[in-house]
Amino acid sequence: MQNNPNDMSDAAFPQTRLEALRRAVDEGIPRPLSWRLAQLEGLLRFVADHEAAMLDALQADLGRCPTEARLVDILMVRSEIQLMLRNLRKWLRPRRVHTPLAAQPGTSWIQQEPFGLALILGAWNYPFQQILIPLAGALAAGNAAVVKLSEVAPQSASLMARHLEQYVDPQAVIVIEGGPESASRLLAFRFDKIFFTGQSRVGRLVLAAAAANLTPATLELGGKNPAIVAVDSPLEVTARRIAWGRFMNAGQLCVAPDYLLAPEPLRLPLIEALKQAITRFYGPDPRRSESFGRIVNRRHFARLLALMREGRIAIGGQTDEDDLYIAPTVITDLPGDAAILEEEIFGPILPVVGYTEIEEALAFVRKRPKPLALYLFTGDRRLQQRVIQGISSGSVVVNDVLVNQIVPGLPFGGIGNSGMGSFHGHYTFDAFSHAKAVVRRSMHADLDLRYPPFTALKDRLLQWLLSR
Ligand code: NAD
Repeated sequence: MQNNPNDMSDAAFPQTRLEALRRAVDEGIPRPLSWRLAQLEGLLRFVADHEAAMLDALQADLGRCPTEARLVDILMVRSEIQLMLRNLRKWLRPRRVHTPLAAQPGTSWIQQEPFGLALILGAWNYPFQQILIPLAGALAAGNAAVVKLSEVAPQSASLMARHLEQYVDPQAVIVIEGGPESASRLLAFRFDKIFFTGQSRVGRLVLAAAAANLTPATLELGGKNPAIVAVDSPLEVTARRIAWGRFMNAGQLCVAPDYLLAPEPLRLPLIEALKQAITRFYGPDPRRSESFGRIVNRRHFARLLALMREGRIAIGGQTDEDDLYIAPTVITDLPGDAAILEEEIFGPILPVVGYTEIEEALAFVRKRPKPLALYLFTGDRRLQQRVIQGISSGSVVVNDVLVNQIVPGLPFGGIGNSGMGSFHGHYTFDAFSHAKAVVRRSMHADLDLRYPPFTALKDRLLQWLLSR
């Protein structure tokens, strides 16, 4: 663990409040529907009151243009919370299930109960969304929550640290700033649910800490998302969609297409089409474009520069450390073992790799850890099915990128190296709820059948009953 001077001192760490929150949860404070709805309304009010400040913070932390920021960090948060407000009553309703003859007379149902005290650890790339959506889910499900903001987006973190608690029940929510050290101190504490967004490497540490208390964890991690382009895909629109997904937020997006696999004869024409798309989006000098973001800090800037050393830069490549600017960059002619083909890039660089047969492209993906998202560009239904059924990934989008995130009925989450569990829509509520099984029996009929001593007749009858 690195020592971070900005991390919390002993004096600032809210140990006493944490212990009080733990005690309150253990004493079983009821959190009725009205309380939950009030918390969600409070979060909506936070967004409404601070929208302009949120946009400013995103501009300061990430150079994010207001349109993109409004879409992803404000509108998405708002629509997720509104969906919860509309549906919470229904989600909380006990769900009856069939009670077999052997448990009759009786009634069986599933009842959602809160885990208790949730810990939410956020990443920096969508600093509001990654805190506010899980927090809304935690409160909608009736939990208390401790939120640890990311130190890497300090303006966004500071805004939430100063104001968020005033919009929710301060007896149920603690908002903490700080870095890895604060996170580690929190992870030593007993929580009933952990929701983590971040790197796979840190996800392992979080899961190990969760294991000590057998705390269930949702891990929203990163990874390398392939964009596989088949030979029949129309170049212009394919390139435009991939470039949009790769260069949004200067590539600092967990679901960005991380590398592109193209049929060898189309590799250079596709790169040409990418060039046209980039110019159309950001003009001849993307540095002057208000729609193109910046790298979050010097550490990430240096990491990205190192990834640009191998291969041939086909588009972009210009950098300016003082401005934390890296141009939208496409790299090709890479050695098979290039670091950029192994590590998650998380920046505005797209490596393009050629393949001869589609099998080669599929094997390339399968050889790597399971991606968060897989993008396939083809009109060939058989190939679509082969990829959907044959390659494991958190999600698949055919002929586009990212749009799975705005379909509220779809769970969003990874598998294996890219995470476990999911959220969005009612899955966010589910992530913070325990589906409790309940059976209520009548005390009247009490057949002797199941009680010892057993006889051959009881044995036959029991088998018959249990098969109904
Ligand atoms: P990170 O793992 O470095 O940090 C995430 C959180 O963990 C922060 O709050 C940080 O303070 C804390 N942390 C960092 N190091 C720690 C340590 N050693 N011990 C305990 N806590 C520690 O991730 P990041 O750099 O903030 O975010 C980028 C990563 O997040 C990328 O890999 C990206 O793909 C992923 N991500 C995933 C999703 C998703 O929904 N799947 C969304 C956004 C980002």
